Amino acid sequence: MSSSPVQIPTSREQCLALDADDPLALFRAEYTLPSNGIYLDGNSLGVLPARTPEIVRRTVEEEWGQDLITSWNKHGWTELPFTLGDRIARLVGARPGEVVVCDSVSVNLFKVLTAALRMRPGRHAVLGERESFPTDLYIAEGVTGLFEGARSVLLPSLDSADDLDAHLDEGVAAVVLSQVDYRTGRLLDMGEITAKVHRAGALMIWDLCHSAGALPIDLTAHQVDFAVGCTYKYLNAGPCAPSFLYAAPRHHAGAEQPLTGWFGHAAPFAFEPGYRPAEGIGRFLTSFPPLLALAGLRATLEIWEKVDLAQLRTKSLALTGLFIDRCADLEVVTPGSPELRGSQVAIRHPDGFPVVQALIERGVIGDFRAPDLMRFGFTPLYLSYTEVWDAAQALHEVLASGEWREERFGRRGAVT
Ligand SMILES: *Cc1c(COP(=O)(O)O)cnc(C)c1O
Repeated sequence: MSSSPVQIPTSREQCLALDADDPLALFRAEYTLPSNGIYLDGNSLGVLPARTPEIVRRTVEEEWGQDLITSWNKHGWTELPFTLGDRIARLVGARPGEVVVCDSVSVNLFKVLTAALRMRPGRHAVLGERESFPTDLYIAEGVTGLFEGARSVLLPSLDSADDLDAHLDEGVAAVVLSQVDYRTGRLLDMGEITAKVHRAGALMIWDLCHSAGALPIDLTAHQVDFAVGCTYKYLNAGPCAPSFLYAAPRHHAGAEQPLTGWFGHAAPFAFEPGYRPAEGIGRFLTSFPPLLALAGLRATLEIWEKVDLAQLRTKSLALTGLFIDRCADLEVVTPGSPELRGSQVAIRHPDGFPVVQALIERGVIGDFRAPDLMRFGFTPLYLSYTEVWDAAQALHEVLASGEWREERFGRRGAVT
């Protein structure tokens, strides 16, 4: 379990040497990578694990095709939201029975934020950051709209927990923040912020979309109230795979989430006319999540079982540190100091969109976030130091040649 910091390499040869010595290098064979490219977008859509097609095929052809309705019991389908949740629990510092897999991040945020407001009657404000991933803000707007007098308050981006001081008063019911900022990669101090929010009597909800599978998280130690997160970014469960929801056990009995569907019922197959919430984390279910998408999650979590998160973090910081170092001549907006960054690097450039398109044509796949950020995600389980070196080199070549000025690179598709 090595987690000592890695020296930033200053030549391609040193990168090759680090790769030869990389304790995570064996994981690369677990993934099907694009044949002629360097994929720096695993923070947006994670790559395909090599074992996934077979597990999905078995689920379709054997479980669905042959065993049909008996699969619910025979193959443990009913348990999957919980068993997969338990596997994710290890990755976010939770215990078995505290995480459930279902629905999307937006829907799960709707559930826990509504529950939080109900748990803090008389408090009317929900705090968030103006620069947050917009769906979180839209949901906060929607939820507060359902409570008389409630409002969603948007703060400027936080640099530290202290920035909350001026806003945390007895009117605040809940605070919703992303641990890692989706654009800049800035990492917030979960412990300090959660403690501060609790001292003000409010509840803390973390969005882990850009931190689950990117760094070790300890929801239990920090006494977080609720958390939500993606499985299709760093966790590689597949496009639009269901998300996960964490609720601290102290809230299981009292939390009333509003989407009271049959799978959140204490006895779904008793078909009672009235709703009785399940005990425990099961009350946060609404319907059963898409079974075939759960197969993709099942496959990738088998790999994650074997990952040492301290090693993952060490390599992640080494890869982002290397890229930041190679791009020191550009406007890097991601914090340079390791304890303040997640696993991605953002560079501001007024022509970021066509530059990223030109880079993609050279086989380096990053993405662009309006208005002017080029964004590169670093996934330690399948990226090498040499690839990161080469990607930075390609970026400089694109900028130096001016090839991004070609008209075709300026055309935008529906997804950027
Ligand atoms: C990707 C992402 C989401 C996704 O939300 P869905 O409702 O699952 O589509 C939400 N929040 C953040 C911060 C994200 O990065």
